[in-house]
Amino acid sequence: MKFIDEFRRSDLAQAVSARIQQRSKTPARLMEFCGSHTVAIFKHGIRQMLPPTIDMTSGPGCPVCVTANTDIDKSIALAKIPGVILATFGDMLKVPGSYSSLQEAKAEGADVRVVYSTLDALAIAKENPDRKVVFLGIGFETTTPTIAASVLQAEAEGIRNFSILSQNKVCPPTIRALLDLGEIRLQGLICPGHVSAVIGSHPWDFISREYGIPCVVSGFEPLDILQGIEMLVAQIESGQSKVEIAYRRGVRPEGNRKAIEVIEQVFQPCAASWRGIGIVPGSGLKLRPRYERFDADLAFDIQPGPTREHAGCLCGEILRGVKTPADCRLFGKACTPENPVGPCMVSHEGSCSAHYLYGEDHGE
Ligand code: SF4
Repeated sequence: MKFIDEFRRSDLAQAVSARIQQRSKTPARLMEFCGSHTVAIFKHGIRQMLPPTIDMTSGPGCPVCVTANTDIDKSIALAKIPGVILATFGDMLKVPGSYSSLQEAKAEGADVRVVYSTLDALAIAKENPDRKVVFLGIGFETTTPTIAASVLQAEAEGIRNFSILSQNKVCPPTIRALLDLGEIRLQGLICPGHVSAVIGSHPWDFISREYGIPCVVSGFEPLDILQGIEMLVAQIESGQSKVEIAYRRGVRPEGNRKAIEVIEQVFQPCAASWRGIGIVPGSGLKLRPRYERFDADLAFDIQPGPTREHAGCLCGEILRGVKTPADCRLFGKACTPENPVGPCMVSHEGSCSAHYLYGEDHGE
């Protein structure tokens, strides 16, 4: 397969690994922000290919995992409002809120439908003119352009029974918030490839400029990630701190102008709540006043009730990079992918799920 097989060649991966082993002298803690990177790192055994000087840690880059219980509870409460059809990506179905999940709400009679794109949600709205169809907006900059496009399409086609419950998030402010917490000291950051394909590499400049942390935007194949780590090691060993791209086939420094424009046309920044991190100013997106008739937050009286966290679940600490799944006493025992307690075990991009499926610290 073009552009896949050549990035999985084990002889090339071994060669990059050997160069990293040779070059890396300074102990360095590197964080991969993105959940897709976490999964790829575990699946392809990349940690085992690195020298003992390199300590890899996972960050808060799984959109399902970082959705706070308050927001999950809100989605469930909305789904239970008579006449509502809640359309969502399948990942969200099993995520436990304070008291239940969307899957449980569906079993109790709520009309929750799994869709594969926002276009599916629009189609449901057209097929059900007497119902209110709400798309649950979850995701980072990668998915937001399609959600914004669905609002524009609904407006163009005069679809009036469609709205968005926007829980969409943007990443750079949260990396800043994470670094400002001061709980973790990083020597390098692997920046997300898909998000950067939309926003470019410039939005990460503040990390190297203000915090002195080398950054490399990486793709998701084993060679992409190893190359990204090699570039980080090169910066660390030469005392540099800049933003580089190891994923030129997917990312341009300026990003995708069209995608950025459609996001900016429909959404404006707002504060958002992140699991484990809390409220981060400017890290959420809400519909601009011109499109507020598509805003489910304004269209419905949503009463989610009080929030509570799951006893013993360390997802918040794991998302901040201060704990690992192996630190959780529920990991692999009370909490498994079949019976998940927290979102990091539900989502296929979650750290707990990646550790469970591919890690050495399988909690049995
Ligand atoms: S193992 Fe389960 S309970 Fe523990 S942190 Fe992960 S998701 Fe939460």
